[in-house]
Amino acid sequence: MQRLANVRIVLSNPSHPGNIGAAARAMKTMGVARLMLVNPERFPDPVATARAAGADDVLQAAPICQSLDEALHGTILAIALSARQRDLGPAPLSVRDAASLVLEQAECGDVALVFGNETRGLSNEDVQRCRYIVHIPTDPAYSSLNLGAAVQVLCYELRQNALSGAPLGQECTAGRVTPFSSPPATHEEVERFYAHLRDVMIRAGFHDPLHPKRLMPKLRRLFGRVALERDEVNILRGILDAVDKNPGLDRSNH
Ligand code: SAH
Repeated sequence: MQRLANVRIVLSNPSHPGNIGAAARAMKTMGVARLMLVNPERFPDPVATARAAGADDVLQAAPICQSLDEALHGTILAIALSARQRDLGPAPLSVRDAASLVLEQAECGDVALVFGNETRGLSNEDVQRCRYIVHIPTDPAYSSLNLGAAVQVLCYELRQNALSGAPLGQECTAGRVTPFSSPPATHEEVERFYAHLRDVMIRAGFHDPLHPKRLMPKLRRLFGRVALERDEVNILRGILDAVDKNPGLDRSNH
């Protein structure tokens, strides 16, 4: 179950300590231990400990982060959980496909499932920082699960997948499709690439930050489907640098 040890359950801005405790209990029953809290309203709190029942070790080990970027630092895959369908966000995945992808990537590094606030859900900004979005298929007339229940559904699917899955290889092979491929890019490497891309597009006059339309969400969705490797991010950033330094490029061939 080493792969489950690489799974982070991230709760973004949870309001109720009881739900944090319920999430910890849901995780521990399924063998998932790494809880991370982004700006919890009340934590630590005796209500959280009471609701965690015997899972207070999961609570005690849970770091408190100031931002989602901090909670996702070092991860190679983040998936957002949303009770609502979003107009424009990352590509959608089913719960089962998400569980399978999470465990495959967890062979290579840390992965995260990101859950939102009880009332507001995840902000668009948070969702944009994830590569995929998952909606648990509930009754559309009443689609929102309790936060702890949503964590339970995902951790259950992870465990079922881990129990039925192929035995672990000796080394990380996910994503290594060619002998010269490099390790998966981390969250912060990909975020630096997006910031660089945005910056160069603004300077080139292609992107107007005052009228951003949907350019960055569309580009994030595109690259999110690709599972960028570290070398590929470096190449893309190298191209951006080279183009940026040559404003007088001859465009007559296009
Ligand atoms: N009123 C909020 C719901 C928040 S429920 C909204 O409309 O977005 C708290 C969190 O539990 C959500 O942010 C999401 O991460 C998770 N969740 C609840 N129901 C879900 C569902 N049907 N599918 C996926 N995630 C769900």
